[in-house]
Amino acid sequence: MTVAPLETAEIVGVRAQFPILAQTVNGHPLVYLDSAATAQKPERVIAAEGAFYREANAAVHRGAHTLAAEATERYEDARAEVARFLAVDENEVVFTSNATEGLNLIAYALGNASLGMGGDAARPFALGPGDEIVTTELEHHANLIPWQELAARTGATLRHIPVDDEGRLRVDAAAAVITERTRLLALTHVSNVTGVVSPLEQLVPLARAVGALVVLDACQSAPHGVLHPRELDVDLAVFSGHKVYGPTGVGVLYGRAALLDALPPFLFGGSMITTVTLEKAEYLPAPQRFEPGTPRIAQAVGLAEALRFVSEIGMDRIAATEEALGRRLLAGLAGIPGVRVLGGTDPAGRVGLASVVVDGVHAHDAGQFLDDRGIAARVGHHCAQPLHRRLGATASLRLSCGVHTTAAEIDLALQAVAGVRPYFG
Ligand code: PLP
Repeated sequence: MTVAPLETAEIVGVRAQFPILAQTVNGHPLVYLDSAATAQKPERVIAAEGAFYREANAAVHRGAHTLAAEATERYEDARAEVARFLAVDENEVVFTSNATEGLNLIAYALGNASLGMGGDAARPFALGPGDEIVTTELEHHANLIPWQELAARTGATLRHIPVDDEGRLRVDAAAAVITERTRLLALTHVSNVTGVVSPLEQLVPLARAVGALVVLDACQSAPHGVLHPRELDVDLAVFSGHKVYGPTGVGVLYGRAALLDALPPFLFGGSMITTVTLEKAEYLPAPQRFEPGTPRIAQAVGLAEALRFVSEIGMDRIAATEEALGRRLLAGLAGIPGVRVLGGTDPAGRVGLASVVVDGVHAHDAGQFLDDRGIAARVGHHCAQPLHRRLGATASLRLSCGVHTTAAEIDLALQAVAGVRPYFG
């Protein structure tokens, strides 16, 4: 059954819930097309975080007093909301500070397993010389550098699935990269540069066939559609709260329960232990073994409210709406002379995001030109230097939609992009 995109009136209603979007920038109504960097927050998310501090602030899990119990309940309710969003169990949801920390947590846990920590349970995940970690040429640095460092620490080799000249993953080359030596495949669900959805249905089975773990960077997919890690058959997945209309400072790591319980922790301290002697400690199962110290309580509560907000609209309707906006954006960009769209202009299998290089104009100048017209776009390499290098660009201008983006805003952005070359040329 095809799902109907949001009607314009519905989007306008959604947009009205974002207080920041009511402002003008440089004399123009703000057109916020930088949701891929960070999403704006609806009033109810801001209120939920404020309400936690006003009504229930206390340290969680250990207090005997009423506020501590209330704080614990709100924090664990937030975990339950994330579990519902991902269609997984609550003990499979670890709160982190962002996706970057989630990816580093996995890399450090595997590194600790490679040092012999975690005993028999962790031994199957130990890496060493002769083992291979596979990632791709289009990753965000957050899903690249932790694997470079893990390879350096363990003696494993890092390999990459290449992209083609348009910046799309080369499935045809993947079978030669994912081999019997592959122990882990880490890849993004959606490219933060091209907006192209990765061909997971072709790549994950290659990893499965050789018994490799699969780590999914879901930063750019979580805000835009249904994200069910089990259906995608991945072992671990991360996303950032702030890109899904939640607060900064909170992210999510999903992991299969048995895997999380088998991996050694990465950070150590209070709240993660069963018994401690002066010599050693025993650790709680997941998620507590990965949440030492005082967690991001108010931020988790805000994230849960954000997930309720998008879930009430419907992730499938958000996906349909943003896909249509993406098509409009790509079709418009394709018609502007001297504008090259990274990832090409084929709209199939993409979210509402596009990065462009304007002939003869630096991305920063183009970004400034748009800002002068009230349009917020991102410029630079978007933490994906290897991909930009491969595509022969040092920087690009990225336009990315959110749940509040209207077709009229896309048209304004297209008009502005069309004006860049004539202005600077
Ligand atoms: N992965 C992708 C694909 C991203 O787009 C981003 C953020 O831009 C990240 C990882 C890192 O997210 P954060 O900076 O919130 O940790």
